[in-house]
Amino acid sequence: MKVELLELEGDRIRFLLSGATMAFANGIRRVCMAEVPCLAIDEIALYDNTSVLFDEQIALRIGLVPLKAENLDTFARPEDCECGGQGCPGCRVDFILSVEGPGMVYSRDIHFTDPGVTAAFDNIPLVVLGEGEKLVIEGFATKRIGSDHAKWNSGTLCGYKSLPSIEISGACNGCGKCVKECPRQALIQDEGGRAKATNTLNCSLCKLCIEVCEAGAVKIIPILDSFVMTAESSGEMPAKELVASASQEIRKRAVEFEAKLAELS
Ligand code: SF4
Ligand code: SF4
Ligand SMILES: [Zn+2]
Repeated sequence: MKVELLELEGDRIRFLLSGATMAFANGIRRVCMAEVPCLAIDEIALYDNTSVLFDEQIALRIGLVPLKAENLDTFARPEDCECGGQGCPGCRVDFILSVEGPGMVYSRDIHFTDPGVTAAFDNIPLVVLGEGEKLVIEGFATKRIGSDHAKWNSGTLCGYKSLPSIEISGACNGCGKCVKECPRQALIQDEGGRAKATNTLNCSLCKLCIEVCEAGAVKIIPILDSFVMTAESSGEMPAKELVASASQEIRKRAVEFEAKLAELS
């Protein structure tokens, strides 16, 4: 298996995975989306809400604020915690939000008792408060995974596509239609006017080039063991860490599965 980094920018990573099956590529995608643990606000107590929004709407908004933790590994999932899920500093982190209008309440107004935990983005608007209106909330965040609830999704835009092989046969007459039609600038015309692939990584396999080629000179063949993978985190962790954590999760499960199999024999 080979991994080649194509792009890395904070929350977003793009890499070429070769020598793997589609099931494995899809496994990485799924785990990035829904199985890498992170923190999210789990329960709240609303002491005062004189804003224009109902309590439920406030609860929904606050629950979806992505949270960043410097010490994420030190938190356990409630069901795995020594407290048995009752709630303790090992599995939850408390917060308070207390704002009086006028003004906008932002995600940065959520203050956690652990200074290593903050909103991943400090400028997410929660609600506008008018003169004298108040919002006072206490609550706690827990560490879980996206398959428990979407608010724990560590990955947002995670996907893959097969890397194609683009072949132009000798039937090409140099009309240039495929080059004009390609939405991804994956084709150019060479000195002789013939079409040629220039950037197969960008090809989306849309096959528009095949449709417009009257000479039937274009062939797009997916390479079965190579995938262009893209992962974007929801802000809780850098994209590289997201993919690394996804691989660790897959490894952990494989080890557990192996142990279970050993018990059977
Ligand atoms: S559309 Fe077909 S014939 Fe025209 S340049 Fe492209 S490959 Fe060649
Ligand atoms: S399949 Fe689509 S993206 Fe790929 S080369 Fe053809 S037109 Fe361009
Ligand atoms: Zn606990």
